[in-house]
Amino acid sequence: MKVEMSVGDFLRRAVEVFPDRLALVDEPGAEGSLGRLTYSELGLRVRSMARSLEEMGVGVGDRVALISPNAGKFLVSYFGTSGYGRVLVPINYRLNADEVAYILDHSGASVALVDPEFAHLVPESVNYRRIVLNGRDDEALFAAQGPDREPSEWVGDEDSACSINYTSGTTARPKGVQMTHRNAWTNATILGWHTTVTDRDILLHTLPMFHCNGWGMPYAVTGMGGAHVIQRKIDGESILSRIESEGVTLLCGAPAVWAATLDAAQQRLKEGRPLPGRDLVRVVTAGAPPPSRTIERLQSELGWELIQIYGLTETSPLLTVNRSLKEWDGIDDRERARRLSRAGTPALGVQIEVDQNGEILARSNHVFAGYWNQPQETEAALVDGWFHTGDGGFFKDGYLTISDRKKDVIITGGENVSSIEVEDVIFQHPSVAEVAVIGVPDPKWGETVKALVVAREGMVLTEEEIIAFCRERLSHFKCPTSVEFRDELARTATGKLQKFKLRSPYWQGMERHVN
Ligand code: AMP
Repeated sequence: MKVEMSVGDFLRRAVEVFPDRLALVDEPGAEGSLGRLTYSELGLRVRSMARSLEEMGVGVGDRVALISPNAGKFLVSYFGTSGYGRVLVPINYRLNADEVAYILDHSGASVALVDPEFAHLVPESVNYRRIVLNGRDDEALFAAQGPDREPSEWVGDEDSACSINYTSGTTARPKGVQMTHRNAWTNATILGWHTTVTDRDILLHTLPMFHCNGWGMPYAVTGMGGAHVIQRKIDGESILSRIESEGVTLLCGAPAVWAATLDAAQQRLKEGRPLPGRDLVRVVTAGAPPPSRTIERLQSELGWELIQIYGLTETSPLLTVNRSLKEWDGIDDRERARRLSRAGTPALGVQIEVDQNGEILARSNHVFAGYWNQPQETEAALVDGWFHTGDGGFFKDGYLTISDRKKDVIITGGENVSSIEVEDVIFQHPSVAEVAVIGVPDPKWGETVKALVVAREGMVLTEEEIIAFCRERLSHFKCPTSVEFRDELARTATGKLQKFKLRSPYWQGMERHVN
């Protein structure tokens, strides 16, 4: 028997098995907040959304765009659109109006749902129906209503797109990644297995829900009947207080989020306040290699478990996972952190190879179907059954390490330098808050290593100090030859450094940006 996989399956199970359980704690006080809902109440909202879209003439396969920070209505939309064959297009709310307009146009969305705070990003248009999620314009869409307004069930097609996720702007124009129901289903269940999601889990949404559908974790947690706690704005202290008040057990996010959380924890200690979640909280991190010092501090200062994963929007995202093994029992925090700082081993059902150019290639059931309306880009990314990640890496002892984004490799005097390796070292300096290492042109060496550093508040740092610190820890050719201090570094909404932006001023007027 073959039953078509649908992301609707995750919610269906929760409503059937756990109707009276707490499903959602929406951000209190946010305009249009849904408050606290059980799974049966969440199911009603989802069916209501599906029915309303149907009444608006939005057919199976039509695109529904959503521009919103984390919100209860985002959770409803995952299921109210995709679960009924409509295609969700989550758009990064930190883009500007032009970038949003490009995606609305490119995806051909017929409906644009927009959070009230970001309504200015979406003008009225004849091309789509604009609905502001303020609790009034969208009243019918998210109403809790009875069985008289049931939506038509969708027969299902696991190879059709459940969402189109536009990649986060580290390249010039975003590309629309078509994630199929089969992609989302296999990713969510395998991710849920590797991170042992159970019905006891309470997920704090610290990862933007638009980013690769929250890495699929919202599906996994729903399928098990766990609870969702919405966090609209990310700051360390509110993460700690939500963990405390809601009994949160699971969080996902980029390494920068954990750095902020650790700072907030330090502040609490100074004030003599308790730190929540010891031996209860699991943190899943990806998007950038977490500095080993951050991993070590999460373990030693907070007593939280860190699980690293690696992947891309194109891979739904799970490719590798790194979680403490039974063989590591008894090792100290520093050694554990060192081991966990690698991207990990291939997840179940994933094959990974590193080609002769050092590029990581991947195959699995959750690698995407192709970019929306960009056949040439698709052809370049999916070659002979392998997805080309554009990341550089190597395997050692069965573990994959991401040594660089391909575009970021610094080649100085013929030697390859991993900017990530240098960043990791500089980040160990106690006065460093943020760091980016880039290659800049150099008349003698071709390229030379430059560090852009943000000092911790109140700390004074010098170029000499950083270079000497690196020289104690790295081969000399890997050490920066110059250091510049900045107030902040350009990052994407999900916390990744925008290296191309940081590099470009140094390469202006040159034909190639490698030397
Ligand atoms: P995105 O598609 O926006 O999620 O970005 C995916 C990119 O993030 C990958 O191609 C990697 O360059 C980077 N990335 C994701 N996870 C990791 C990780 N664990 N370590 C290093 N880089 C990562």
